[in-house]
Amino acid sequence: MFRINENYLKLPGSYLFSTVGKKSKAYMDAHPDKKVIKLGIGDVTLPLSPTIIAAIHKATDEMAHKETFKGYAPDLGYEFLRSAISKEYAGRGAEIAIDEIFISDGAKSDSGNIGDIFADDTKIAVCDPVYPVYVDANAMSGRTGDYNPETQRWSSVIYMPCVSENGFAPEIPDEVPDVIYLCFPNNPTGSTITKSELQKWVDYANDNKAVIVYDAAYEAYISEDDVPHSIYECDGALTCAIEMRSFSKNAGFTGTRLGFTVVPKALKAGDVSVNSLWARRHGTKFNGAPYIIQRAGEAVYSPEGQKEISAMVGYYMNNAKIIREGLESAGYTVSGGVNAPYIWLKTPGSMTSWEFFDYLLENANIIGTPGSGFGPSGEGYFRLTAFGTYESTVEAMERIKKL
Ligand SMILES: *Cc1c(COP(=O)(O)O)cnc(C)c1O
Repeated sequence: MFRINENYLKLPGSYLFSTVGKKSKAYMDAHPDKKVIKLGIGDVTLPLSPTIIAAIHKATDEMAHKETFKGYAPDLGYEFLRSAISKEYAGRGAEIAIDEIFISDGAKSDSGNIGDIFADDTKIAVCDPVYPVYVDANAMSGRTGDYNPETQRWSSVIYMPCVSENGFAPEIPDEVPDVIYLCFPNNPTGSTITKSELQKWVDYANDNKAVIVYDAAYEAYISEDDVPHSIYECDGALTCAIEMRSFSKNAGFTGTRLGFTVVPKALKAGDVSVNSLWARRHGTKFNGAPYIIQRAGEAVYSPEGQKEISAMVGYYMNNAKIIREGLESAGYTVSGGVNAPYIWLKTPGSMTSWEFFDYLLENANIIGTPGSGFGPSGEGYFRLTAFGTYESTVEAMERIKKL
């Protein structure tokens, strides 16, 4: 008789976006005359840029001819892409060799899969609120203890609350974790970390033989100088940090899928190289990202590609500025939106996140995301995204100002 992995049964339902969808649909069905503006999604809306599309067309044509056809990609990624990435790191003062870069189909898979190489009883620490993948993936491996629906917390996870009182920055926990998940610029709070603050985490991880899993999916949105684009800008990060990056949010690859993970060779558990473990895992369970999409990724690093993607990021960040300033002038307490496409606002009065969701939907016909959906410390907060159009973003702020 087959048996299932019962850890899956412990997972709480993921109701956030389905509930947002259901409530939004019910409202729109009941009020077909209302123009509802969606600022809830964490997905890009601008199309792929011309240089990237040209690279996709060219690579597609190569696939049509015997001489240039490609079968399986090398499972760690094509060298043309890994060397473009390595050069970009060098430009930031980080020396990352190409065999420390593992091309994948995105940062969600990598941040979910990275746990495969750690011990079963690994203790993880996460920010609260947080991108749900880190905790759920560890829960599936049976590492997180039991889920308490009342506190919305797992018994064996170390939570690091990120709230207005601490500037939405995690504090070093009392109990020493084995693996620390950090994501900056942050989804959902839009907050970020300075290089000297991140250096403290790197030192802490090295001192305590912990590893930091650093999700830098939003690094392209950084606009301030003292914010690190990579954890490897910090001294000593090569011996304690794994970094994930994605082409989704910077270049619009959410539908085409491409990302990568850096595992430095200097990162060791005793005398075991973590890099070779990840190479073994990647080579066993992943057969490579598509050639066509890796060529598209290479085009992102070309001078024209860089120009085009910074224009896209600029478009979204102009929306972020409109939202941030619009909310501030309407009297809201706001953070984020400076180095990230997310604006995190305090719900007015004593409204819960879901009460504010309903209020905003009914009175301004705007859809956002309740902060409590990202973790218990997100209660009383609300996320708006800059991924809408300029016109709808402007209109949304006009409606909010009139409330
Ligand atoms: C969107 C996002 C990702 C990117 O995931 P992909 O699988 O590369 O599309 C990773 N981490 C965070 C925090 C995100 O918000």
